Amino acid sequence: MNTVPSVKTDVFIVGAGAAGLYASLHLPQPTEILVCDKGKKRSGSSPWAQGGVAAALGPDDSPDLHVQDTLRVAAGHADVSAVQVLCYEAPECIMELAELGCDFDRNPDGTLHLAREGGQSVSRSAHHEDSTGAAIMATLRQHASKRVKRIEGACLRLDVVDGRCVGGWVLTEEGVVRVQANSTVLATGGIGAIFNSTTNPAGATGDGIVLAWEAGAGLADLEFVQFHPTALAAGLGHQRVLVTEALRGAGAHVVDADGRRFLFDHHSDGEMAPRDVVARAISSRKGAWLDCRHLDPGIWQKEFPTVYSGCVRHGIDPVRDLIPVAPAAHYFVGGIQTDLDGRTTIPRLYAIGECSNTGVHGANRLAGNSLAEALVFGRRAARAIAGQRTGKPKEPMGDVDLEPVEIDADDSWVRLRDLCTNAMGIERDPTNLRSLPAALEDLARLPITDDRSVLELRSAAILARLMARAALLRTESRGVHHRIDHGEPVPEWAGVRLRLALTDLP
Ligand SMILES: Cc1cc2nc3c(=O)[nH]c(=O)nc-3n(C[C@H](O)[C@H](O)[C@H](O)COP(=O)(O)OP(=O)(O)OC[C@H]3O[C@@H](n4cnc5c(N)ncnc54)[C@H](O)[C@@H]3O)c2cc1C
Repeated sequence: MNTVPSVKTDVFIVGAGAAGLYASLHLPQPTEILVCDKGKKRSGSSPWAQGGVAAALGPDDSPDLHVQDTLRVAAGHADVSAVQVLCYEAPECIMELAELGCDFDRNPDGTLHLAREGGQSVSRSAHHEDSTGAAIMATLRQHASKRVKRIEGACLRLDVVDGRCVGGWVLTEEGVVRVQANSTVLATGGIGAIFNSTTNPAGATGDGIVLAWEAGAGLADLEFVQFHPTALAAGLGHQRVLVTEALRGAGAHVVDADGRRFLFDHHSDGEMAPRDVVARAISSRKGAWLDCRHLDPGIWQKEFPTVYSGCVRHGIDPVRDLIPVAPAAHYFVGGIQTDLDGRTTIPRLYAIGECSNTGVHGANRLAGNSLAEALVFGRRAARAIAGQRTGKPKEPMGDVDLEPVEIDADDSWVRLRDLCTNAMGIERDPTNLRSLPAALEDLARLPITDDRSVLELRSAAILARLMARAALLRTESRGVHHRIDHGEPVPEWAGVRLRLALTDLP
């Protein structure tokens, strides 16, 4: 057994994205907070968010209308209480961010400018140009830096004593550090990096979900992965530039090779149809393009500089050229099962943001709702932690041993991404779903090691096997989960949330 240095804290937050940092700001003084993250190159999706954060703030909007839109897009699968919490509490969080200094775009009368995105019946996304996430994160980092201690590294295991989470272990550049905490919060983001084509950053490998599962916490809705319909179909590698939906909200058309707006063949809302509909329609064509040539060229610098520079980097001038687009893995709907205050099924272990499953998104996420969920449920989890009985952290019991691993991680990643894309892409084939668990067994059984890339590979493989199991169990199509052998929703499946726990190892 190794002896590792240890640190004590009141609250240990794993993940420094919007969810983790916003939660940290809502823990009362003098709570000691330690935030752990994987570093600059793995800084999560939050800084990349483009279109905006949804909240019923417009004169033509209301929390009830936001609830209605969210439930409609969620395809009969959302948790209504969670949706109500989201829609009623989001406006306060956005106004608080604005007060903290977040530079949201404003109308001439000083009110927040709201963009309209797919599935929203009115304009509802507060934004900063098309780099909303960067603006939010700048504000959160500025305020959180005064409140939290930070440790850079990968959390590789949680410690559970007498059924209660008491912290975990972090692999840093200097070695493993044990963190002892009264409460632990997982805020580790998404999973897009397990697919061949994704809008997510490299570190989106589902670590937190696997940490929770290995500790014995329940997971839910793992079969639901959202593919963004319009990622830039240019460049090499698996990471794609996102072309925000707000551009379609501003009037861009989706056309086929003949220049025809084909989305109206699939949905009466055309370009503003829900993401799953648009993604399936685009992937069923030989190619699809965004036509922005009729738009005022001034919008590029004023509203969409991020998309513009992403296009120009790939030799496309959106003022004159069509923008080639294709769907890419974008958002994980499933995750660590929580209640309305971020509590997981393990006492003193919380989950917030994209790694959590509050039930808000049902079978499909409405645009702008993920940042809103990260804020609303991050704040609720912080308040729940503050309301807990305090006391000394329980003494940790376990330990971690790091084993050397010899493996070609690059080759293994290619294999894993191919398998995940074939089995769990936009159209799911049961044969591929059935064969995935065995094909990834070797990677899922890799030991805990000191190579961070191997750790991510291990997480990705374990998670992929669980996801395939859930996708195979759900013998219907609903929202973003589309089976080629069960093409329609089955009424009996509506609202049935598949919950997997440690015993469900495929
Ligand atoms: C290109 C893009 C555009 C988007 N646009 C929008 C939008 O306009 N509106 C919207 O609502 N949503 C949008 N989303 C989704 C939204 O950005 C994310 O769902 C949200 O930011 C997730 O926040 P988070 O705090 O949960 O996780 P993240 O911001 O992903 O942060 C995860 C954190 O966890 C850390 N971490 C992960 N694993 C470990 C580990 N093992 N140990 C230690 N630390 C770890 C990472 O380093 C990081 O700090 C977009 C996503 C992308 C990729």
